[in-house]
Amino acid sequence: MLTHKFRLYPSKTIEQKLLETLEICRRGYNTFLGELNEQKEIDKSQIQGIIPDMKICDEQFSKVHSKTLQYECYKLFSNLQGLSKSKGKRKIGQLRFKGKGVFKTFTYNQMGFKLVNTGKRCQTLWLSKIGNIPVRCHRQITGKAKQVTIKHFPSGKWFAFVIEDGNRENQYPRTNKVVGIDFGLIDTVYDSDGNSVTNPKHLKQKEKRLKQLQRMMSNKIKRSNNRDRFRIMLARHYEKLTNSRDDFLHKLSDYYVKNYDVIAMEHLAISNMAKGCYSKSILDACWGKLRQFISYKAESADKIMMLVNPAGTSQRCSQCAEIVQKGLGERIHSCRKCGFIVPRDYNSALEIKRLCLEKIRQELPEYKHLEMEALPIRQLLSMKNEAPCES
Ligand SMILES: [Zn+2]
Repeated sequence: MLTHKFRLYPSKTIEQKLLETLEICRRGYNTFLGELNEQKEIDKSQIQGIIPDMKICDEQFSKVHSKTLQYECYKLFSNLQGLSKSKGKRKIGQLRFKGKGVFKTFTYNQMGFKLVNTGKRCQTLWLSKIGNIPVRCHRQITGKAKQVTIKHFPSGKWFAFVIEDGNRENQYPRTNKVVGIDFGLIDTVYDSDGNSVTNPKHLKQKEKRLKQLQRMMSNKIKRSNNRDRFRIMLARHYEKLTNSRDDFLHKLSDYYVKNYDVIAMEHLAISNMAKGCYSKSILDACWGKLRQFISYKAESADKIMMLVNPAGTSQRCSQCAEIVQKGLGERIHSCRKCGFIVPRDYNSALEIKRLCLEKIRQELPEYKHLEMEALPIRQLLSMKNEAPCES
């Protein structure tokens, strides 16, 4: 399954219909929830069965494709499932009725939509009960479109998420190379081949304007049109921030998945780290998102992302395993035992790679040929007597 995100350009009348559909879907969801609360035993088919009655009682519901309403019922049950899964892990309550303006998406599953190729810059997406919407398909859909989800973004833009069956062809050949990546704040990444990428600090670039807009919006009267104008302006700025971040991270993750077979990184508890004093910088560096991108891209390209134990990677010498204590400000790793002098993050990246190769040797004997000649075997053997590294 592949998902494509395409921008929609609806006219004023179509946009009204789209907003109306969102509102009806919200009411549908609430009706299903009300029915669910009255039931003694949970029965999905019984709840889904009330759709024809809903249409008779309130003709508003006839304005929405039946598959879309059915999907709302499915959404309700998947929410319910999610709730029961987190039972015991954290305090949970009941599912709540959704207030006005909460719903941002609706879905056409299997039928009720059609992508028409017009041969022009914009194709047409036909949605049942809504009409034709110009859509910019920047990518060709080769398989069969299974599902379309329409989403309204806070910036006012509309997007269609088209799910197509079939997989992306594996475009990256085998390279037989292993890389260790160290995340940092000065350099977003430093890898074991000595490449580093400076942190672009997207938030810092846009922070001043965001603060200004936020202040301006907070001065406006609540629920006024003027405030709404500023809300959209602010949302557009946030969207730009997300887009420039994603662009950077996609390019970076693509580089690693393309050039290496095994990508090793530390198993960091990023959400816990982001509670500390460098929280803003850590979140702006987007380590979590980068890890997520590498993970899914590696999976679809038949490559491996490996997480290693982060304990001691910045202090241990990658060549002789000597512990070299250094403060946060010290940027150079200088080993007294073997005289290895390199930038601190580079040593960490080498150490991460070493840990990864060690793990591969233990866990995946079939990958034994991977860069094994480059392994510091002697050091590895002496490492075995020390505490084993777990992830
Ligand atoms: Zn050393």
